[in-house]
Amino acid sequence: MNPTNKNINMKRALFFLAILLLASCEPTETYKIPVFAWLAGPGEATDAEIQADFEDLKDKGIDGLMYNGGQDPTTYQRVGKIAKAAGLEFHTWIPTMVQAPKPGIDSAWYAYNGNRESALEKPAYVDYYKFLCPSKEGVYDFLANMYGAVADVAEVDGIHLDYIRFPDVILARGLWDKYGLVMDREYPEYDYCYCDECVADFKAKSGIDILEVDDPAEVQEWKQFRYDLITSMVNRLADHIHGKGKEINAAVFPGPNSVAKKLVRQEWNKWNLDAYFPMNYNDFYLEDPEWVGEVTAEGVAAIEGGKPLYSGLFICPKPEKKGSEADPENHGLLPEEIGAAIRASMENGATGICLFTPKRMTPGHWEAFDKAIHINYEAK
Ligand SMILES: [Zn+2]
Repeated sequence: MNPTNKNINMKRALFFLAILLLASCEPTETYKIPVFAWLAGPGEATDAEIQADFEDLKDKGIDGLMYNGGQDPTTYQRVGKIAKAAGLEFHTWIPTMVQAPKPGIDSAWYAYNGNRESALEKPAYVDYYKFLCPSKEGVYDFLANMYGAVADVAEVDGIHLDYIRFPDVILARGLWDKYGLVMDREYPEYDYCYCDECVADFKAKSGIDILEVDDPAEVQEWKQFRYDLITSMVNRLADHIHGKGKEINAAVFPGPNSVAKKLVRQEWNKWNLDAYFPMNYNDFYLEDPEWVGEVTAEGVAAIEGGKPLYSGLFICPKPEKKGSEADPENHGLLPEEIGAAIRASMENGATGICLFTPKRMTPGHWEAFDKAIHINYEAK
């Protein structure tokens, strides 16, 4: 062996040693399921505070945000920039059919119940239940302009619709006590929309004057007419947002058949969305975490074209108080239940999960969550 060869061999050995060292320093990429989170802000938070929060969420395993920050595009530009820098997908979570009165919204555009009362003047259940009527062309124009301006923000990956529905004609079983109601059937004060335009459009289409019918809940065409009004609103907005090269998705009630259509008239399997986020909040329906799997399977089977479904999970913020807490808004998955809900979602075909919300997660939740998200589940 001459000295030159020896030199080359030495260089080669060093080179391979360096490769070995680099490979051993590389963190091993462990498997993780996709995770989104619903999050509201920014309030008074500074950019540095938002950045620290987003980096923490990313570290914990969150891949993207459904971010609720009002309707001003500049808010989403500011926060979206920080989200993108932290490596998070950024979708804007803005309610659709629920709109407080404001310039640009005509008071005549609000929905009317079966007693012909306006949701603006006499909202059902709670003061903010000011739902618009989906038949009004002005409502579509308002929403298309509002969502369109947000979609035009470069940092926004997608528009996330919420309250894209009618008011709950039947409340989830877990809420009956809270409102002191027994919702054994559809009652006119919670049943919408009986505005002049909806009544006339339905009569023109079906020949039925719904105001003359004793029990409108018996009229299947009237139910379908209202599913179609929401479906049409979603699909028109979807075309508009897709035209801007952005995604559109929505938070929906579980189902669609078991809950969403019956309670809030969402036939969401007919919606042309890029992803579906059913709020599989078992405690609202007095169900256990295994039920999350049942409604996930139902949703996955209902949506066409294999679009992703992310199973929305409702987190209990104070696990130690769940037993003594009357309000279901304070119920939700306990640390010892979150793993079962994630497993049930993934084994029944969910693409991933979405947390409501990371702010409700206790250290115990994060510990159980960390174990659950690194399992490579097999869909049944
Ligand atoms: Zn109407």
